[in-house]
Amino acid sequence: PARPATAPRLRPEDVFVAVKTTRKNHGPRLGLLLRTWISRARRQTFIFTDGDDPDLQLQGGGHVINTNCSAVHTRQALCCKMSVEYDKFIESGRKWFCHVDDDNYVNPKGLLQLLSTFSPSQDIYLGRPSLDHPIEATERIQGSGTVTTVKFWFATGGAGFCLSRGLALKMSPWASLGGFMSTAERVRLPDDCTVGYIVEGLLGARLLRSSLFHSHLENLQKLSPDTLLQQVTLSYGGPENPHNVVNVAGGFSLQQDPTRFKSIHCLLYPDTDWCPVQKQS
Ligand code: UDP
Ligand code: MN
Repeated sequence: PARPATAPRLRPEDVFVAVKTTRKNHGPRLGLLLRTWISRARRQTFIFTDGDDPDLQLQGGGHVINTNCSAVHTRQALCCKMSVEYDKFIESGRKWFCHVDDDNYVNPKGLLQLLSTFSPSQDIYLGRPSLDHPIEATERIQGSGTVTTVKFWFATGGAGFCLSRGLALKMSPWASLGGFMSTAERVRLPDDCTVGYIVEGLLGARLLRSSLFHSHLENLQKLSPDTLLQQVTLSYGGPENPHNVVNVAGGFSLQQDPTRFKSIHCLLYPDTDWCPVQKQS
């Protein structure tokens, strides 16, 4: 749907980007994000972690939230974080909620441009499905002992996804003030699946697929180099899968920039002080 010519442009402070992290990733993962994309998206980015870290607090400039959720990789702990992300977004009054992992590169201008093509008062759930078929879940309705099955699509959290404020507000009976955790228990699914369950399964809205969001579940080497700078999110395979990175040339070798995030960042923002000096043509 086209934006009316009179509508004000979407501003960075209209968007709430929640970055999910954990104490042990502050050094290995978050430092890189702070030096790259977060440095160009300060006003819209909020970091959700699970342990106090004065250094991060200092670098995050008031945008670091200690969820006090436990620092383990369980459904409960991850849903606890998503629940706090949701509540902080609602409290912020902003127009768009986006969630990313700490191994995502976000293209701030690309994200703003994409979101500005929609209205935040519509029901928008935007992301990349992680499966090629809808997930089927068993729904346990508390007290009644009834078990039913529901089928729905969900956006994979590792590629990032966004929700309009209009849709997020409709989710509140199942998501606000800890409700998200009870909802996740009802279907016994991870945080990103639970978002899909609430949106599609309970509210009857639909996931809008975008090919501009990317996780390391994909083969990132296959992304065309000509379109890399138009993508909204990127990721990398990490130590278990070091070859699964985007194919970008530039001033940094694979050793200097194993995630390729520095190379991408210098193409998007060549005036960054640590980027290689541009060649004069
Ligand atoms: N994470 C977390 N708590 C944990 C482990 C991971 O909050 O105990 C976060 C991590 O910071 C990242 C996301 O969960 O943002 C996904 O973790 P990771 O990339 O390590 O695993 P994946 O699921 O992508 O294989
Ligand atoms: Mn990951």
